[in-house]
Amino acid sequence: MHGLSLERNPIDILETGKSISDVIDGKIRQLYSGSEEPFYVVNLDNILERHLQWISLLPRVKPFYAVKCNNTTAVLKMLSALDTGFDCASKAEIELALSLGVKPDDIIYAHTTKPLSHIRYACAHRVNLMTFDNEEELLKISLVHPQAKLVIRIAVDDSKSMVRLSPKFGARLPTVRQLLERARELNLEVVGVSFHVGSGCTKSSAFRQAIEDARCVFDVASFLGFQMRLLDIGGGFSKIGDFQERFEEFSQVINGSLDEFFPPVSGLEVIAEPGRYYVESAFTLAVNVIAKRVVVEDRPGVQDGAESCPERLMMYYINDGVYGSMSCITFDPAHSKLEPYPHRAVKKSEPRYRSIIWGPTCDSIDKITESYWIPELYVGDWLLVDNMGAYTVSVTTDFNSFEKAHIYTVVTAETWLALNLSLNFAQILNLETQCGFFFSLQSCAPYCFASKVPDMLEM
Ligand code: PLP
Repeated sequence: MHGLSLERNPIDILETGKSISDVIDGKIRQLYSGSEEPFYVVNLDNILERHLQWISLLPRVKPFYAVKCNNTTAVLKMLSALDTGFDCASKAEIELALSLGVKPDDIIYAHTTKPLSHIRYACAHRVNLMTFDNEEELLKISLVHPQAKLVIRIAVDDSKSMVRLSPKFGARLPTVRQLLERARELNLEVVGVSFHVGSGCTKSSAFRQAIEDARCVFDVASFLGFQMRLLDIGGGFSKIGDFQERFEEFSQVINGSLDEFFPPVSGLEVIAEPGRYYVESAFTLAVNVIAKRVVVEDRPGVQDGAESCPERLMMYYINDGVYGSMSCITFDPAHSKLEPYPHRAVKKSEPRYRSIIWGPTCDSIDKITESYWIPELYVGDWLLVDNMGAYTVSVTTDFNSFEKAHIYTVVTAETWLALNLSLNFAQILNLETQCGFFFSLQSCAPYCFASKVPDMLEM
């Protein structure tokens, strides 16, 4: 386990009694005279909460966080301190994880169509666990990483997910036997099965069916002589919007299916590759209104018809958009509707105007909202967007060379201390009595945290 390091990743400690809103207010005040750059405030405690929930609801499943979802260093450091593994999709992601002290054994190279040079890199850095779903991949791996521990990715029913992945990845069940036989001919070691039910999964039954499918593949592989020991249930989890209540239900179904098809006595290692789940609500984006146009149309303009006047269609131009932090609008159906809200306090009585919010670039696709009823804004006003952690910072482009949103990370002192290696016993006891925090970490983390306490104490 690695502590969070202040030197390498500047992280602000949240003062007692202060909230994330206070931090945002402070940053906006700081920027007031100088720059109007967009920025994120990242709440690391939010990630910890998600983690605690994960390990209490899915005790058999070790999370390998999907780096592609958000590769912010502080997030990766935090998760490494919590002893999660990492799902990396490329040489650069592996390089990043290793540079932060992640052990090669805590990485799964979870991409089934890898460049040869990236496989070679994985081999050179002892990253052995990797997925495949086709024969060509087996040939490449046998050439440059014959000692790899292979995980066969199967295509599963992802029709109930907002982002489908099976059209592109995963071996169909009828082809699995042939692929496994090919792996055996090439003297490769297959150790497990993986699947991904699709991102933004809406039906828990997808996990049950996929786990049952994985059982069939285990049986075929065992029959062929492979020592199967790993099941990877992928990603697909969320807890925002319509998904609020689903995680609990998903967990029950997953636990039940695991117990039915892979009883604990089997000694199986179960992992998952959650991305969205861990980071989605930890990031709040603050953007600035940099320009405004008012278009007057000859229609009633105030919502609910209290007043009748020519409609003023407000057009606001903000300094981040679809080519920056908000590309999810166009390509992430699980997060395609964003609702920026004014940072300033809004009176209930203020009229709302039909507004379009545009991003800063010269492209009209760069539109954040259409027909959005909000109070009037002025150039220089700030807007906030919640739940901006997933597939945002890692998917920005340089189009028009607008400045990318800066990232400011905050954490409470309790969390900071508990996750730092410089803890001593007195501090822990102190924390326990102050907030019960450390106690809850220990009791909720059967697979990792309790066993790591000696490390934390530097004994
Ligand atoms: N694993 C793989 C192989 C993926 O392709 C993805 C997302 O595309 C993830 C994990 C993370 O999925 P999610 O963010 O839905 O948890």
